Amino acid sequence: MNRGELLAWLRTGDEGRLAQLFAMADGVRRLQVGPAIHLRGLIELSNGCRRSCLYCGLRRESALDRYRLSRDEVVGCARRALALGYGTVVLQAGEDPGLTRRGVSDYVRAIKGETGLAVTLGLGERSVDDLWAWRRAGADRYFMRFETSDPALFARLHPPLPRREPVDRVALLAVLREMGYEIGSGIMVGLPGQTFADLARSVELFAELDLDMVGVGPWIPHPGTPLPDLAAELAAVAAEQVTADEATTLKVVALARLVCPRANIPSTTALALTAGTQGRLRALESGANVVMPNLTPATNRRLYDIYPGKGATEAAVEDVDADLKQQIARLGRVVGSGPGPSLAFRMRT
Ligand code: SAH
Repeated sequence: MNRGELLAWLRTGDEGRLAQLFAMADGVRRLQVGPAIHLRGLIELSNGCRRSCLYCGLRRESALDRYRLSRDEVVGCARRALALGYGTVVLQAGEDPGLTRRGVSDYVRAIKGETGLAVTLGLGERSVDDLWAWRRAGADRYFMRFETSDPALFARLHPPLPRREPVDRVALLAVLREMGYEIGSGIMVGLPGQTFADLARSVELFAELDLDMVGVGPWIPHPGTPLPDLAAELAAVAAEQVTADEATTLKVVALARLVCPRANIPSTTALALTAGTQGRLRALESGANVVMPNLTPATNRRLYDIYPGKGATEAAVEDVDADLKQQIARLGRVVGSGPGPSLAFRMRT
């Protein structure tokens, strides 16, 4: 798909054409990856962060009780994932220097040793030595969204560490691929200052990186961060400000499926939070084939405050899981079994 076609899809408000796009993506999903929806157990490892991202509630300036899960707590979550029949756990965190090379290696070895589950890491921009050590410890996948394809906007919203060169996330993803990780990336939709050209370029980057996992969710304004107040100013600079709505998010999910037909694509928490259960299901019928139920212990979950409402659910893990499995059955789909690597990865190796 060329830039013009991508832009045409992104800009259209025509319901009939959109239904066509979503059906096309659903068809490609069915043909390539089949009916399975993989469940990944999300473990929010730490809310500590050294960065100052303008969009994220975990930024270092936030007055937030900080936590880091212990090895036993992490293994406990992984056992729960195993008991629920999940094949993968996803360890996500702020960019926390207290998550050391050795510490994370221990977590990974313990999870692999005691559950055998596939392990995905999303711990931010780390040194090549750290990433190598974790790969050798057995980590299977790494995800790091590039958030926006516009380097100037990314630098503004995600300032580099003081006195350090900015990290090129796209280049680092290529390094992770060389290390043997399955690689994941993605964007937020509707970031202040984001244009349709940015979204189109982002979709092209998904294809160029040949991503194994593509995560796309709407930007959710967090009142404790600087970005909501800067939104008007940044939007004025963008020629055509993209809105952070369900329709635009679903378009990007569908386009991601068309350009990365063999990737794993989650229906994201941010989408479910803003568009409800129906929004979550619509993504699963527009190209997505993964859901990531949150297994973080309730007390810590409340503190993983990336955006408002993130950790708000009081429902027990078992109830959320049962609901989800029921919804999957009602869609006429099945719960995926095993680690569920991307088909792209399986064909590459
Ligand atoms: N620190 C790691 C993991 C980040 S959390 C990293 O930077 O890679 C995972 C994702 O949450 C981020 O990549 C970002 O896309 C998303 N996120 C952060 N703040 C958000 C917000 N306010 N609204 C929606 N998504 C947000």
